[in-house]
Amino acid sequence: MTAETIPEGFSATEPAERRVEIVRSARRRRTISAEERDGVVRVLMPAGMSRAEEDRWVTEMLGRLDRRRDRVPRSDDALLARAESLARRHRLPQPASIRWADNQRSRWGSCTIDDRSVRLSTALAECPTWVLDYVIVHELAHLLEPGHSPRFWEIVNRYPRAERARGFLMAKELDAAS
Ligand SMILES: [Zn+2]
Repeated sequence: MTAETIPEGFSATEPAERRVEIVRSARRRRTISAEERDGVVRVLMPAGMSRAEEDRWVTEMLGRLDRRRDRVPRSDDALLARAESLARRHRLPQPASIRWADNQRSRWGSCTIDDRSVRLSTALAECPTWVLDYVIVHELAHLLEPGHSPRFWEIVNRYPRAERARGFLMAKELDAAS
């Protein structure tokens, strides 16, 4: 991968991209759960809660999803699960395998199109998870478009923080080179 664009500057938070759907079930007694698919969070909860209770639970469940997402996946299995979820969310092909690798020729990640395998530099484990996600999206986008064509960047930009992540990685590279 390459970083070709100038960062736009860093803001502390990213506007929420998620839509929330509440699914109320009369059969559900106490359990509340949340799942995220294609950018939509569905919160499943018992019917008959007050609006204030529902709001409180939505906030709580969004927080839990974020915390789950903010853990760097250390194992290759966890990494694959994360890549599969990113692929679903951003309409990208699923990888056959994705692994951490120490001996990266290109610095952050690489993708072999023939067997749909992705390798990520272990150095990324030290980056924020939204940067890791960007590199995964970048490599998965190569399964649709091998080169860095305008169409490629259009696909990569389905990831809302693509621009910021490129800036982050560029700054890190400059840091390492200096
Ligand atoms: Zn690339």
